[in-house]
Amino acid sequence: MAEAERCLLCHDAPCSKGCPASTNPGEFIRKLRLRNVMGAIRTVKENNILGGACGVLCPTARLCEKECSATGIDRTIRIGKLQRFLVEHSWKIGFNPLSGGRFELPPPAAGRVAVIGGGPAGLSCAAELARNGCRVTVFEERAEAGGVLRYGVPGFRLSTEFLKKELEDVKALGVTFKTSRAVGPGGPRGLLKKGFRAVFVGIGLWAPIRPFGGEQGAGVISSVSFLELFRRGKPAPRKLCSGKTVAVIGGGSVAIDCARTALRLGAKDVYLVYRRSFSQMPAEEDERLEALNEGVHFLLLNQPTGYARDKRGGLAGVKLVRTRLSGKDASGRRKPVDIPGSDWVLEAGACIEAVGNKPEEKSISPGKLISADPATGKTSAAGIYAGGDIVRGPGTVVQSVADGKAAAKAILKQLKAAIC
Ligand SMILES: Cc1cc2nc3c(=O)[nH]c(=O)nc-3n(C[C@H](O)[C@H](O)[C@H](O)COP(=O)(O)OP(=O)(O)OC[C@H]3O[C@@H](n4cnc5c(N)ncnc54)[C@H](O)[C@@H]3O)c2cc1C
Ligand code: SF4
Repeated sequence: MAEAERCLLCHDAPCSKGCPASTNPGEFIRKLRLRNVMGAIRTVKENNILGGACGVLCPTARLCEKECSATGIDRTIRIGKLQRFLVEHSWKIGFNPLSGGRFELPPPAAGRVAVIGGGPAGLSCAAELARNGCRVTVFEERAEAGGVLRYGVPGFRLSTEFLKKELEDVKALGVTFKTSRAVGPGGPRGLLKKGFRAVFVGIGLWAPIRPFGGEQGAGVISSVSFLELFRRGKPAPRKLCSGKTVAVIGGGSVAIDCARTALRLGAKDVYLVYRRSFSQMPAEEDERLEALNEGVHFLLLNQPTGYARDKRGGLAGVKLVRTRLSGKDASGRRKPVDIPGSDWVLEAGACIEAVGNKPEEKSISPGKLISADPATGKTSAAGIYAGGDIVRGPGTVVQSVADGKAAAKAILKQLKAAIC
């Protein structure tokens, strides 16, 4: 309440304009400030079915909080934390604004819709459609829904228990989940033939980009496998890291998650190897500082070039060459250039490759992003929509939520036009 009291109650609520998913922080903070806690919860969850996860994971410093009018005058209002509080409070008091008769669901009239992929994009699309009377089935390849929230982001950042509660809010809308059900390349058209009136594809990016190609060999693992095995509670990640010097290649949020996980699994030392400087790292500033405070070593201005192997083929280390920053590249950042003759080997017993993900080869869109209208999710195939990472490339949870909502609106328009 004290944090909400600090809100300046701006007339035009610039924070709301800074939210990609239109969660409307201007409205929920105003309601909270006026002690209308139920109304505030309702605003969050009606606008963003994953309001809790977004409250925890959103890079708020470059979204809603960046636009907060208090910034520069006083400390920025902690919008993400207020949002998280409201969602957790709703669970604590058993108040679900989307079920239990408090929120009227229209009769299921608009038809059946299939959603492929149970990540943030698919979940938000499914929830929006179900709230508007559609009968929605989510087809999910893995044993549980949640996408990266379940099998990527480490549990110390977003717990399985927290995610389960947020998934209950989706289920309460009547969405059906078919898990352990991968949909193949011809799948979306097949589902249309089976009577689904529209299909939304939100399958994300699950194939690792390999920094040096070829076989990974002993001691080397991709971030996708490492984090997924960790989230599944498998012993392999601990076996890989425990008591060893671990190198993590990459400078984004995923690399930071891997480094922090390796520390928790008992690594002796964890080196984050990145070819540019600290301020150029794509990872958010708060994540970088957290990792630094926890003891991750940042090995900057070093370009990995391959692996050093011992006589038995085990990992001996990561080959590196030092870099310096030169003129600007296409991204507008200063370019790292190798320093001739500065090659060296970082001794390491394990290495995690975290340089990015791409679409899977054996999937709906083999090895390629899906091209879709960003405003509606429409693809070139009638009745098939797409959104989230499989359209944008690596993005954020809140962007995927926004894509799912936008596609749901377009699907509802299509279904309504067919009825009229
Ligand atoms: C380690 C990690 C940490 C991250 N941290 C953050 C963060 O802190 N904040 C933030 O905003 N963003 C973060 N992101 C990015 C964010 O998680 C993604 O942008 C978001 O999850 C994308 O949502 P999506 O629904 O498009 O895809 P996904 O979350 O990838 O979900 C896709 C789902 O589709 C399923 N699927 C795939 N193929 C098929 C198929 N053929 N049939 C059926 N189902 C299929 C998958 O199993 C998965 O459940 C992080 C990403 C990673 C990898
Ligand atoms: S969903 Fe994320 S970006 Fe939007 S208001 Fe909430 S914390 Fe900010």
